[in-house]
Amino acid sequence: VQVSNHMPTAELQALDSAHHMHPFTQGAGLRAKGPRVITRAEGCWLTDSEGERILDAMAGLWCVNIGYGRKELADAAARQMQELPYYNTFFQTTHVPAIALAQRIAELAPGDLNHVFFASSGSEANDTNIRLVRTYWDAKGQPDRNVIIARWNGYHGSSVGSGSLGGMKGMHAQGGMPIPDIHHINQPHWWNEGGEMSPEEFGLARARELETAIEQIGPDRVGAFIAEPVQGAGGVIIPPSTYWPEIQRIVDKYGILLIADEVICGFGRTGNWFGSQTMNIRPHIMTIAKGLSSGYQPIGGSVVCDEVAEVIAGVEFNHGYTYSGHPVACAVALENLRILDEEGIVTRVATDTGPYLKEKFESLADHPLVGEARIVGMMGSIALTPDKASRAQFAAEAGTVGYITRERCFANNLIMRHVYDRMIISPPLVISRDEIDTLIERAWKSLDEAH
Ligand code: PLP
Repeated sequence: VQVSNHMPTAELQALDSAHHMHPFTQGAGLRAKGPRVITRAEGCWLTDSEGERILDAMAGLWCVNIGYGRKELADAAARQMQELPYYNTFFQTTHVPAIALAQRIAELAPGDLNHVFFASSGSEANDTNIRLVRTYWDAKGQPDRNVIIARWNGYHGSSVGSGSLGGMKGMHAQGGMPIPDIHHINQPHWWNEGGEMSPEEFGLARARELETAIEQIGPDRVGAFIAEPVQGAGGVIIPPSTYWPEIQRIVDKYGILLIADEVICGFGRTGNWFGSQTMNIRPHIMTIAKGLSSGYQPIGGSVVCDEVAEVIAGVEFNHGYTYSGHPVACAVALENLRILDEEGIVTRVATDTGPYLKEKFESLADHPLVGEARIVGMMGSIALTPDKASRAQFAAEAGTVGYITRERCFANNLIMRHVYDRMIISPPLVISRDEIDTLIERAWKSLDEAH
């Protein structure tokens, strides 16, 4: 069979269902319904095999920061493929794209985060982080400091290691996870879990769970704490203002490593280059992926501070991936960073289209189904509720309100995602004011239809 864009949709769906296993999907349900076949994309818009145009308010999977269809990235890939399509940096070799990208990331990253270990995804990079942390403490003569503290409902990837760091219901224990010596504390999700406390009180209380956990486990056993500056996949949970300063105090007090998982927050999403800058924290390691290449090539990495990199340099770090620092992925990422910078895209999120989106997005809180609408930069979520005053949640069987809303959005040619009782957006950072208006109109219409 010659599979192509020109095939009828039903035939493509039949072949898909016969041969293609989908991530995070119940296959049988999908087969019954048939997936939408996406054929092209430009800017913030996808086109499907029926010729429908869909506004992608998720930037793919939170990754297409510069928007679709940028020819410069295709050209960068083609040039690099012809010059040096592949080589590795394992055994006493290096190459220009990896050097150039590592140097550029070091320039953009805050503080003394000057060293990059490359991977092909966020999951791989977080696996690297587990080994970096444990190798670091081992090399410092403290091998017992192998416990990593993470958060319930955090998301750090889907490999066995990174999935163990994550704490999302449903996936956490599936298939042999978690690995040993990972400990979870509660998330700072005030809307759902704050009860009678003010957001500020609740933020402090949740941050102090880190200190309690360290004391219980033993300060000489804890190596690191990992968290997303703003939890993404867990529902775009923007922490109360008191949360991160208290976490930073505790991390400093006990001398544990702070890993900021910037896979979503990085590269402009929150209005700064990194979410750590928006939240004013000082990580020792940052996980990066997604927006690093705007999803045009699979690439991620760990950005490591001087001291940790120096300690690791003293041992042989027996870790790496065939595609660590892949030259084509590096060349594409470099071009992506050039565009983000030279076109002032990150600045626009902070001062122009970001504030415009915030104003419009927050107006969704006037809808009868919406409890709160919160957004930082270009990642936001609304809480669906049957009763705004009590911040009630829909009962499990009616949790389908989120599902219905998502389905209505999809039917109205708007991609929004739903997580439990929240609906999420994370559009390309280049979204225009007109497109923001369209997004909000379609979201409102879909909410009306779900109501
Ligand atoms: N970390 C965070 C915060 C993420 O949101 C994700 C993916 O959504 C990952 C890690 C995993 O990245 P990947 O899917 O590239 O493995």
